[in-house]
Amino acid sequence: MGQHRSASASRLLGLGGFQVLAAEVVGGEWQLAVQTTATVVGCIGCGVRAELHGRRTVRVRDLPIGGRPVVLAWRKRLWRCREPACGVRTWTERTPAIGPRAVLTQRARVEACRRVGKDAHAVAAVARDLGVGWATVMRAVGDHGSPLVDDPTRLLGVAALGLDETSFLKATRLAPTQWVKGLVDLEHGRLLDLVADRTGAAVYGWLGAQPREWLTQVSTVALDPWRGYASALVAQLGHATVVVDHFHAIRLANAVVDEVRRRVQQATLGHRGRKHDPLYRIRKLLLTAAEHLTQQGQGRLRAGLAAGDPGGEVAAVWQGKELLRAIYAAVDRQAARAALDRFYHWSDGVGVAELSRLAHTVRAWEAEILAFHATDGCSNGPTEAINLLIKKVKRVGHGFRNFANYRLRLLLHCGVTWQIHRTARLRGRSSAVVA
Ligand SMILES: [Zn+2]
Repeated sequence: MGQHRSASASRLLGLGGFQVLAAEVVGGEWQLAVQTTATVVGCIGCGVRAELHGRRTVRVRDLPIGGRPVVLAWRKRLWRCREPACGVRTWTERTPAIGPRAVLTQRARVEACRRVGKDAHAVAAVARDLGVGWATVMRAVGDHGSPLVDDPTRLLGVAALGLDETSFLKATRLAPTQWVKGLVDLEHGRLLDLVADRTGAAVYGWLGAQPREWLTQVSTVALDPWRGYASALVAQLGHATVVVDHFHAIRLANAVVDEVRRRVQQATLGHRGRKHDPLYRIRKLLLTAAEHLTQQGQGRLRAGLAAGDPGGEVAAVWQGKELLRAIYAAVDRQAARAALDRFYHWSDGVGVAELSRLAHTVRAWEAEILAFHATDGCSNGPTEAINLLIKKVKRVGHGFRNFANYRLRLLLHCGVTWQIHRTARLRGRSSAVVA
């Protein structure tokens, strides 16, 4: 490789303070011999110009070039001080671009963190692209991601707090499903944190760790009241308006519709829903908002109920679900109050046990349900959006086994602001220059 080509190769590498001495493809990977451009250095002790004492080659992996993994063979200089009075004898050069004993260059570690965190790429895929192991990539994610997640300013400015839970690990034969709660900034749609457990204790502890001023700024809390943690909020967020938002209310109503459908299915046909069973065939239509049903959908819903719901229980609960939805769709608090009474009247009248239980819960949380209209329709919508992002990260994660990793990756994906900066575009092209 001549002078000119070496200069282009160095430009292509784009690693500040380094130049390329030689380049070849070995086993599908770029092997680049590099050295620093620091040919004149002063002694680290006395400042006198140092003398080259030898070289030692250090191998480290860098960002891929043109889709190929890259190995840098850094011909590291050993320096010696010639000043007899100086206590320093020899030392090896250092660079911020490559940490001591590093497997990856600093920028490759940052990029690995960005891909896993911001882009939610699988750790294994990033590891493959860089030609390193899973643990090396995950360590980079931890080292570069943790400061972003731990930055205390990340949590500033939360006026509306949403609480939700999502399953972390699905149950296996040996262990029950583990649950985590997400705390969400509802105004800005970002994940504030994840805490593990199903009771209120973890949320209580998390809130307890926040400064008093932070808690005072939270004026609205939207939550799922059918979980244990609601009471945990009262001590620390007693000043805030607690809202039971429509997402949670309707999710619960849908669960009741499903429950009754399954029970009636079992009672009438003696088995769980199968493909051609009338109730099974309308299971999704039953959960669709009535105003979103097409004429054809309405017809199928009616026919399914006529064929599979002889006692009218599924139809009764479906109606109850729609009446609960009407509370949230009401134009104001007064209309919501009237809608609430229609829901109670219906639920008490039809006498389906599951629906009576739902009405009982709604009564217990009536003030928080009506508060939905007092807080300008404060919604847990951002929470739902974040739940979709969480599902995405879980899909690429293929079953997390480690809560700390899971939390880190979710917060990096939906809880931090990333500085937009890319080095990959330039590097993606014209790798032929160094060939
Ligand atoms: Zn010296």
